[in-house]
Amino acid sequence: MYSPEFCAVLDRYPALNEFTSRVVDFLDRHLPEPVTQEAAQPPWLRLRECAAQAGLTGFDLACATVVPDGLERVAQGLAMFLAGRRDCDAREIFSSGHAAMALRYGAPDIVRSVRDLVVNRGALAGVASSEPHSGSDLRGLRTVAVDHGDHLLLSGTKGLVSRVEEATGFVVFCKVVGPEQAAVLDPGGAALRQVPLSALWLSMDTVGVLTETAAPLGLRGWSLGHLHFDNVRLGKDSLLGDPGDGRRIFDTHFSGWRLMMALVCLGAATAAIEETMARTRRRSVGRMSLANVPSVASRLGTAAAEVQAATAWCFSLLERDRQDGDEVDVAACSAAKALATDASYRAVDIGLQLHGSDGYTCHTPMEKRLRDIRGLRIADGPNDTLYSVLAHSLLTGSRPSPFLVAQRQG
Ligand SMILES: Cc1cc2nc3c(=O)[nH]c(=O)nc-3n(C[C@H](O)[C@H](O)[C@H](O)COP(=O)(O)OP(=O)(O)OC[C@H]3O[C@@H](n4cnc5c(N)ncnc54)[C@H](O)[C@@H]3O)c2cc1C
Repeated sequence: MYSPEFCAVLDRYPALNEFTSRVVDFLDRHLPEPVTQEAAQPPWLRLRECAAQAGLTGFDLACATVVPDGLERVAQGLAMFLAGRRDCDAREIFSSGHAAMALRYGAPDIVRSVRDLVVNRGALAGVASSEPHSGSDLRGLRTVAVDHGDHLLLSGTKGLVSRVEEATGFVVFCKVVGPEQAAVLDPGGAALRQVPLSALWLSMDTVGVLTETAAPLGLRGWSLGHLHFDNVRLGKDSLLGDPGDGRRIFDTHFSGWRLMMALVCLGAATAAIEETMARTRRRSVGRMSLANVPSVASRLGTAAAEVQAATAWCFSLLERDRQDGDEVDVAACSAAKALATDASYRAVDIGLQLHGSDGYTCHTPMEKRLRDIRGLRIADGPNDTLYSVLAHSLLTGSRPSPFLVAQRQG
């Protein structure tokens, strides 16, 4: 059983039925049940390699044969929702992920090599934006790439970032400066605030890249940690777009990516609600089933309503993105991610509660979901910041259309 909103998307786009069946078949074969912390953890990177062999790592790129043209984003959203139903860590199995930035904005040699690694062979790409002193504030980033004419020298520290151990390469957000400017930079990075953001592709086997891992609360299927860059020498062709294009690349990519993470959590929450409904039907209190206790039904109904509304909003934005091209609504995508992950967290918390003490053990998937979704309320932009982005956009009228949910075409 899937969410009615998920089914409604498939009704609108029957051309995605075959793709969806392929994703479901893949999951049924490799990840048949929701993951519990108690069970042996799936070989996540190996599953991504299997997905590459099944043609499921590049479908989000234009010209992929498995998804009709123009439906790549919607297909990616469907895949993320389905992955989340099994486990939030399954989010990295499908699609090109953060490599999409290198594939979209990279020089031809970078595109060739990243495509071969990430799409054909199922390697993983990461994104390194956050720094220890500045995660939410992009202007405050202090990682610099000093431009020496024929090459760049990258220095700084990133983190906490995901996939430090598994990724074959990272899209690194940094400031490109000349050697004279680099020589007079103040330690607090005040001067760097005025330098526009740039993005570059960094292969993890480049000399001077060091990793350091940390122990996260959830999302433990993939490592979390710091990346240290010690005068890492890179060709100028590692730049994505032109110097200073970083903010545009970040906003365009993350608007879509935030919706993907939202849908992973909504998939997990939908599965949690279904499992909880089944348990409340089986479980009796006195002479009545738990499902018939009015406050139980009301809490489950509230959770389902919130999750369905958030799912509809996320897909509506993905469908709009399909029509608007590069004109993404950054503010709405940001707030939709915040709303979806908050609603998912509440739904799983109710599910855990209604599983009683079982829910509080590693024997059911509830506690893992709760920890995982908790991470996604901070990762890819802390939710409080993301709600503020929408408020700012509404207060300043920076979007031409005030509608938060796109009008669907009949
Ligand atoms: C599981 C996980 C995976 C991650 N993976 C990556 C990754 O792959 N790549 C990467 O670059 N980063 C990654 N991050 C880092 C993440 O993007 C940052 O943690 C996030 O942007 C917040 O930055 P910060 O930790 O420096 O918190 P701070 O900027 O110090 O903010 C702390 C808190 O203050 C509040 N706050 C901050 N600014 C505002 C504001 N303007 N308005 C309202 N409230 C505000 C929020 O509650 C926020 O959580 C990951 C984080 C987690 C938890």
